[in-house]
Amino acid sequence: RTGSRAMTAPLRYRIWPKDPAAHLYEVTLTVPEPAASGQVLAMPAWIPGSYMIRDYAKHVVTIRAESDGLDVPLTKLDKSRWRAGPVDRELTVIAEIYAHDPSVRGAHLDTTHAYFNGTCVFLRPEGHDDAPCEVDIAAPDEPVGKDWRVATSMRRMQAERYGYGLYEADDYAELIDHPVEIGQLTIGEFDVQGIPHAIAIRGRTRVDMARICHDLARICEQHISLLGVPDGLDRYLFLLDAPVAGYGGLEHRWSSSLVCARDSLPTRQDAEVTEGYRTVLGLVSHEYFHLWNVKRMKPAVFTPYDLSAESHTGLLWVFEGITSYYDDLALVRSGLIPVESYLELVGQTITRVLRGSGRTKQSLEDSSFDAWTKFYKQDANASNAIVSYYAKGALVALALDLKIRAASDYSLDDVMRECWKRFGQTGEGMPERGLEAVCAEVTGLDLNDFFDASIRGTGELPLPRLLAKFGVEHHLRPAGDSKDKGGKPSDKDTGPWLGATLSDNAGKSVFTVVANGGPAERAGIAPGDVAVALDGVALTAANSDRRLRTYRHGDRLELVVFRGDELLTTKVRLERAPETTCFLQLDKEAEADALARQAAWLETGSI
Ligand code: ZN
Repeated sequence: RTGSRAMTAPLRYRIWPKDPAAHLYEVTLTVPEPAASGQVLAMPAWIPGSYMIRDYAKHVVTIRAESDGLDVPLTKLDKSRWRAGPVDRELTVIAEIYAHDPSVRGAHLDTTHAYFNGTCVFLRPEGHDDAPCEVDIAAPDEPVGKDWRVATSMRRMQAERYGYGLYEADDYAELIDHPVEIGQLTIGEFDVQGIPHAIAIRGRTRVDMARICHDLARICEQHISLLGVPDGLDRYLFLLDAPVAGYGGLEHRWSSSLVCARDSLPTRQDAEVTEGYRTVLGLVSHEYFHLWNVKRMKPAVFTPYDLSAESHTGLLWVFEGITSYYDDLALVRSGLIPVESYLELVGQTITRVLRGSGRTKQSLEDSSFDAWTKFYKQDANASNAIVSYYAKGALVALALDLKIRAASDYSLDDVMRECWKRFGQTGEGMPERGLEAVCAEVTGLDLNDFFDASIRGTGELPLPRLLAKFGVEHHLRPAGDSKDKGGKPSDKDTGPWLGATLSDNAGKSVFTVVANGGPAERAGIAPGDVAVALDGVALTAANSDRRLRTYRHGDRLELVVFRGDELLTTKVRLERAPETTCFLQLDKEAEADALARQAAWLETGSI
């Protein structure tokens, strides 16, 4: 922080859930020293961590300004900005903002709770980016909100713990980095290396909070043991929404917003790590690792963020992919899941990448760069055209780690520590080829060919060969059925391949994805077609696995669909199912040196 903070009068915000039933916040901003030529006010177009233009200004329903008791005119400059008329006293802007987006990137308000990200509700007065911010978080009119509590990582100025009142942030960038949840909360608290951590769960939950806190603490310890406590990390808060279904998260510097299915959380009757709970632990691990990797160490183009327009970088695979590698790795390293469970997760990630032919067309660097218009705006052709910088990024991180470990005394851990020191602790940000340069420096290895092929190329990754050096076998098989996520062997007799995905859409079975070069595409089937019959018998999303299993590859069948309201009849020739489902297994005959490398990699001690 600069020393100017004490000299700059703070921006004063007030947010009030004015009309929960109408989903309206009233947000007030007072600028003590507005620009002499007329203060410009802007709403962000996007929120850091979610790389899509969302134009939060569109939710501003009414806005007006006043100074010294008199109205001040506001002129709209473009989709996100206003200019107030010049005033010589402090300027106050009052906006009503509609909030009915339940996602971790939005703002929500109803009679059961209030949640907001600062990007959705707080105007940014241009030219005041260094000014400290105060926020008065006000209670809704009773009877709504009588038993609500406030959970946020923002520093309290004049507020009880978990209470309404005055909070503060060093500047606007920090102000919008503290999501706020207000509602009926179940709160658990724990310490990690003396730093207070908490989790606030919204909604009706009967969870085993002691177990959740214990498990979360182990994950946090694990990540801290890798990269150390960042300067200024004096608190951390997990905000968790647990509706009937859902999954997602968004990272912040002192907190994260998470969504998981209620039933994936453990109750006091549960002892196992279920698949659902493993997913929750992976999500927690992912967002916590981000507090280093993307929240403090960022692509150089994000220092600072320009929230008015797209900010392109080829590095999202480093910040999301490497984070996706370490999220599950931390679960096995901390002993929360066994090695077999970890290998199942890696097998599922490999499967996700192999099943889309987009991996042969889009490089990881391009996937990162075009995230704004491709990954975040996926259409029916996505799996044919793009590759996920999360999933493939995690696999490149895995391959890179194994490659370094097999060829040197170093690992990706050493590379990340050096990157953190150089680009994170300095606040400089990572240049576009920064990770590659640090890899070469730290390990002394020539990794140019690897990076060219895996980051800028679209060939297959050398995972089978690399995993073998760590006592892990890589197997491929056809998918067992349409629910098969891979990761484990299957004894199901796989039917032939249609090359299309059928989904239930309000009672209709709709072709949602049609694989490039597959049987359905050759038969002229298009996304959106409604399945009617295969070989004279009804074909539905529910029965397609069973129906297909009764045929053999090479069979030519009549396929009938509706396109719009017109019936189309076509011939489809079924093919052998592709072997794009992966599972990994421990090699029971692995040599001692492979087992030693495996134990060092997974931190499992002696095997
Ligand atoms: Zn992430």
